[in-house]
Amino acid sequence: MITLKSQREIETMAQAGAIVGSVLDLLRREVKAGMSTEDLDRIAEAFIRSHEGATPSFKGLYGFPKTLCTSINQEIVHGIPSKKRVLREGSIVSVDVGVHLDGLHADSATTIGVGEISPETERLLAVTQESLVAGIAAARIGNHVGDIGHAVQTVAEGAGFGVVRELVGHGIGARFHEEPQVPNYGTPKRGPRLLEGMTIAIEPMITMGNPATKTLADKWTVVTADGSLSAHFEHTVAITADGPRILTKAH
Ligand code: MG
Ligand code: MG
Repeated sequence: MITLKSQREIETMAQAGAIVGSVLDLLRREVKAGMSTEDLDRIAEAFIRSHEGATPSFKGLYGFPKTLCTSINQEIVHGIPSKKRVLREGSIVSVDVGVHLDGLHADSATTIGVGEISPETERLLAVTQESLVAGIAAARIGNHVGDIGHAVQTVAEGAGFGVVRELVGHGIGARFHEEPQVPNYGTPKRGPRLLEGMTIAIEPMITMGNPATKTLADKWTVVTADGSLSAHFEHTVAITADGPRILTKAH
């Protein structure tokens, strides 16, 4: 079932989303070679809990143990923060975070370069971000979920990159994952119609090589099967009469 949110619920999600956006801004400033992904997790959890009533959405979700998902290089999503995972110069780390506040969730992700990264890696990050912008622009009343996926796919594949199929965006609200699924590929005018009050997480996962995935033995970390780099950018967006509204921006 797709749940439509009231204006008040959307404002609450924007408050949760402002914390999410601020966490990602903070991590963008903090990331340095030599830090572990556990260090990032600790910074994020302390920041979230410093806001009254806010808790990390991921901790305990389906049994996930941490505040962040931290996915390095060929890891696409769901990497588990660890002291043993140390960031190296020239790597990229995708950081995904959710915040729960007053009964509602917000969800966003970004990929951060560690120090200097290669021009081709820069391009992967830029194109993934562009594909997210295109997907958000299609999140309008009267469009369909397929219009979002088509917009993302057109940008990413047009630049020669791969679109991950096995993982998709999602509705979000009182539950972290709600209907509808929001794939990063699709056909215009197909899929559920977008209605005022829908809130969805749009989250392209884009690969430099083939987008086929596999899951590591930890049963969480999803990687590219061919070992190519992967980037992930995500915003929670409300469908409003005034067009798409990004809820996960820092204030
Ligand atoms: Mg996310
Ligand atoms: Mg999400």
